[in-house]
Amino acid sequence: MTTSCPDLGNLDRPALEAVLAERGIPRFRARQMFRWIYRRGVIDVAGMTDLSRELRETLGRDFALTTPELVTRERSVDGTEKFLLRLADRREIESVFIPDTPAMTFCISTQVGCAMACAFCLTGKMGLVRNLTAGEIAGQVRVLAGALSMRDKPFNIVLMGMGEPLHNYDETMRALRILNDEHGLALPPRRVTLSTVGLLPALERLAQEPLMPNLAISLHAPTDAVRGELVPLNKKYGVREIIEACERFPLARRRRITFEYVLLAGVNDSPDAARRLATLLSGVKSKVNLIPLNAAPGIPFERPDDDVIDRFARILAERGLLVSVRKSRGRDIRAACGQLIVDSQKRSPGQALASALGGEPLAITSRNVEA
Ligand code: SAH
Repeated sequence: MTTSCPDLGNLDRPALEAVLAERGIPRFRARQMFRWIYRRGVIDVAGMTDLSRELRETLGRDFALTTPELVTRERSVDGTEKFLLRLADRREIESVFIPDTPAMTFCISTQVGCAMACAFCLTGKMGLVRNLTAGEIAGQVRVLAGALSMRDKPFNIVLMGMGEPLHNYDETMRALRILNDEHGLALPPRRVTLSTVGLLPALERLAQEPLMPNLAISLHAPTDAVRGELVPLNKKYGVREIIEACERFPLARRRRITFEYVLLAGVNDSPDAARRLATLLSGVKSKVNLIPLNAAPGIPFERPDDDVIDRFARILAERGLLVSVRKSRGRDIRAACGQLIVDSQKRSPGQALASALGGEPLAITSRNVEA
């Protein structure tokens, strides 16, 4: 992708109108093109049949329209589906479809890999390979909506796939604007949940966004001592600072901030931790989503027993918090949280070569997520 050949999938509508205007093409064409790309799923301007042949030729010459390529699609016994997508540079990412939770949900990636290195997350072990472009983020939604015949059906999006969305702020927000466009999928922001480990400056920026998604914070521990061991970024932005930012965060009526809490046996699952968590969240309009660890090879933690999980949830509920325990979905196809595969056989020949030569890190071939 170069500036001389902009990618249509990467442009929000005002930007598309501007590049069309440079070529003397009227702005209503951008609306038509958005309808073709997002509502009808064309992946080539040649298919935009209500544009004149001449205009389609101009567009085909001057613009790219890159769409992630669907490599494999696996279906779990519980209906969850995992999509392995290949990007233009042959890096691979995963997106997950989770049906009926109670809505239909797409779990979308924002980066290849992740720089946050949370101790229990395999994506973190890969490091950051690269940011996704807005076109690649919105492109996952285009592909899934098409493959699942859901372009004109309601669905939710959770930015809980691979990557830290606030570490790729501009592209993530542009993707949300593209998806929100009334001439495209018209996805309302209340149907989007952005999950973050708590990059404070970006969180403050998010608080100013006109297009505000729901917010989920990956908290995982009520104290800096424990959280610092699990989430390296906590050394920079501690628990107190994050909670204070959440207390200030503007929330629409009846909205709450979700606090995700991965339960790790013997680490953060004690009654004392539950009580501290309840106290910590007393000033925030919150709900707590407990995520029993999805164990994976190379992850030095265990999932607590069910009675420990129940006890933890009960203590929070008794103190007036809204609590849910996240049900693991798609574990049989390794689509659940933290179940990414780092499988050398899944590397492309180029990636294997790069790694053998000590070059760039590998693309991650499998990932994560659940309802
Ligand atoms: N970077 C974002 C999105 C991460 S994925 C964030 O940190 O919020 C969404 C959730 O899955 C996060 O709360 C993350 O901590 C959690 N997660 C990661 N690995 C997990 C595992 N092995 N078991 C259970 N949950 C996990």
